[in-house]
Amino acid sequence: MAVQNNPHTTLITPAAPVATNTHGGRAKCLQRLVRLDMPVPRTVALSFETVQGIADGHVPDMARILEQFDPTALLCVRPSSEDPDWGGPGAVLNVGMNDARYVDISDTMGADAAAALYLRFVQTYALHVARLDPDVFDDVMDDGQQGLSETLHAYEAETDESFPQDPGEQLAAVLKSMARAWDGTTARLLRQAKGAPADAGLGLVVQEMIPGLGRGECGSGVMQLVNSTTGQPQITGRYLSQSQGRDALGAGTGALYLARDERGPSLEEVAPEAYAELQQHAELMRRKLREEMQVEFVIENGHAHILDGVRVTRSSRAAVQIAVRLAEDGIIPAQEALMRVDPHALNELLHRQVHPDASRDVLTTGIAASPGAATGQIVFTAAEAQASASRGEPCILVRRETSPEDVRGMHAAAAVLTEKGGMTSHAAVIGRGLGLPCIVGASGLRFVTKKRQLMTQDGRVFKTGDLLTIDGTSGQVLAGQPEMLEAALDDSFRTLMGWAEAECDIGIRANADTPADAQMAQNFNVQGIGLCRTEHMFFEPGRLTVMREMIFAQTPKGRAAVMERLLPIQRKDFVQLFRIMGGKPVCIRLFDPPLHEFLPTNRTGQRELAEALDIPVSDVERRVAAMSEYNPMLGLRGVRLGVTVPEIYDMQARAIFEATLEASEKGEPVVPEVMIPLVSACREVELVKTRIDAVAASVAAEQGRDFDYRLGVMVETPRACLRADEIAPHCAFLSFGTNDLTQMTYGLSRDDAGRFMSAYVNQGVFTEDPFHVLDTDGVGELLQLGVQRGRESQPGITLSVCGEHGGNPESIAFCRAAGFDYVSCSPFRVPVARLAAAQLAISHQVGVGP
Ligand code: PEP
Ligand code: MG
Repeated sequence: MAVQNNPHTTLITPAAPVATNTHGGRAKCLQRLVRLDMPVPRTVALSFETVQGIADGHVPDMARILEQFDPTALLCVRPSSEDPDWGGPGAVLNVGMNDARYVDISDTMGADAAAALYLRFVQTYALHVARLDPDVFDDVMDDGQQGLSETLHAYEAETDESFPQDPGEQLAAVLKSMARAWDGTTARLLRQAKGAPADAGLGLVVQEMIPGLGRGECGSGVMQLVNSTTGQPQITGRYLSQSQGRDALGAGTGALYLARDERGPSLEEVAPEAYAELQQHAELMRRKLREEMQVEFVIENGHAHILDGVRVTRSSRAAVQIAVRLAEDGIIPAQEALMRVDPHALNELLHRQVHPDASRDVLTTGIAASPGAATGQIVFTAAEAQASASRGEPCILVRRETSPEDVRGMHAAAAVLTEKGGMTSHAAVIGRGLGLPCIVGASGLRFVTKKRQLMTQDGRVFKTGDLLTIDGTSGQVLAGQPEMLEAALDDSFRTLMGWAEAECDIGIRANADTPADAQMAQNFNVQGIGLCRTEHMFFEPGRLTVMREMIFAQTPKGRAAVMERLLPIQRKDFVQLFRIMGGKPVCIRLFDPPLHEFLPTNRTGQRELAEALDIPVSDVERRVAAMSEYNPMLGLRGVRLGVTVPEIYDMQARAIFEATLEASEKGEPVVPEVMIPLVSACREVELVKTRIDAVAASVAAEQGRDFDYRLGVMVETPRACLRADEIAPHCAFLSFGTNDLTQMTYGLSRDDAGRFMSAYVNQGVFTEDPFHVLDTDGVGELLQLGVQRGRESQPGITLSVCGEHGGNPESIAFCRAAGFDYVSCSPFRVPVARLAAAQLAISHQVGVGP
């Protein structure tokens, strides 16, 4: 009774004062099982405070604990941390075993069982309590009575003491060693890496043992009702006769399946009653504990006892399945199911992954720029990638870095690997857009591209045609072809997304450049396209040459003539986009990159261009040289082209408006959104707006039909944020391009930062890569200024974020709190963004969120 009245050392009864934050998750779970009237052996829970006291040398009265149990019982001690993921010392079984009990148990259960119980305890005690070296027992070969006596001798020889016989002394020593193990540096670092606070406590539970050995059908095992990899209902686990603890899981051939199985004998056949009891207990636990649990059990003489229940470990796809099924079975509400799935984990469902059990030959780890995994033969150029695709052979495109010229090769490749770059460099952005696994900044490999070789730090060489696997989820570059797990866009995923959509209070659009992207975005049921980067449309084979002709045109008239040829091509693209989106908003960004990106970079390309344009190759070289800029990302691009070479925007505006009328003839009326990139001054907007309005007026007049459109500005320079009050009155919307804004706020190149980013993050200069997770302090302050100034001068204006941060769960919290109407991200990131946004909205409703 004394124990029960002490909340720090209490017998677990239905009413005992046991809580997760004072006694740990295991103790609390056991109490729930006791309340459910399950056959749980008697258990005493020691609180965090008691265990800390034990570590500090204040051992409680052992007699008081022992008097809770049958004096002939053996005990087991297990850890009970607040979160099971934080770990804890291993369980110690058979405490109380000594020479006298050995004799008694030999009489009742047989000498072999008695020896096995005693031997296990002596070995555990020797290693974990007395801290003996395992090789002390190297000479012990037998695991029966002979082995026991040799082990006891070895113990005595090593410690100069006989093995402790007093159960109280044994228990005190076990508790002390477990309490101290929790304070060890390695244990501390491991749990802190899993998010445990520095002062995380450890509870311990002391439980009466049901031995699992002896006469009749005795043994131990674990059971769960779902498959941990797929999440599908399936009774899984193992049972091993004459065993203890989790022996069944490591037992090779001797263990039984639980349910009938064609691979071998099962518990269902050997002990049908115990099997049925277990299944009922497991189902009750699922319903009442509102979770898929793994049940640790012992069978004693044909009857089941429940020792413990732990949350089933699960893959990401299983996590979705499990949460949705619990909600569909009415066990948890849909909102709770949404809260139980980590948004980042959805990446694993959306793409093929390396199988969690596959062995990995890791060559290096780079920046995980686009999730998913793919295996293919190494190729070093876009042309080789296309050739490989046309032969039906998957390939990995390996480049120092990619440029727009490589886009066709990227389309043809199974995955992309670059030496340079960061989260928003070209390869990363395009890779995510295409849903193509991509690793950038793999500076741990030497890219000897001239010799078409990759060299690892340990001197291995990989050549064209060798097999490589890119794991864009982890950033690991792997040799060979590990086993894969396919994407799982199944019904559970769709159900979860439907629930998330209903909860979201911020809009989610997709960045989509091509009809294929738009179709993918529609599959994820986006609210529209938030950014169509039109320049990507010009890299298709037939179009690139026309584009180059335009660049080589000497006069505005010459340029206009080439534009006439580009116009129908663009119009067709836009009609397709509008039709796929079925009346949902489509935001088209006018031409953005510097023109030289369209010119060939090597001699062969320049010669081919000279041929196509019928001019001397020296003219091509001169033009390429004349157009080169020291710092093209800050040079003649975006609206600066719109102001100085206005024919491009004129053509694009006309294509957009003509497509608007064409697509509106059948189907929903289209209201296009036209966006001007890289604005830094209000006058830029005025100049471009005047021309675009004029194009709209003339298209309407020519076709005798009116249409609406919305003109907006892409805010991606710090100055545009600061001057948003001046810019907003000219606009229907402002969309914040946080990629360029991050680059310009930090003065940090999107394409070169990968070289030192990991050093910066490792040394704590940046807490995260700011191209990956929005810098809410600096870049965030500029966004807030832009939002506030834009809204003040133009109250009804639509505000959004279309940089990559729009798809990052951590950054969405900021966007939602700052009052943006929507975020827009690569199609494959839409589900991740939507779940993150739904979770924020739910937290807000229940009053725990921002
Ligand atoms: C941006 O700068 O945030 C953006 C979305 O545009 P891009 O990545 O094409 O420069
Ligand atoms: Mg930009």
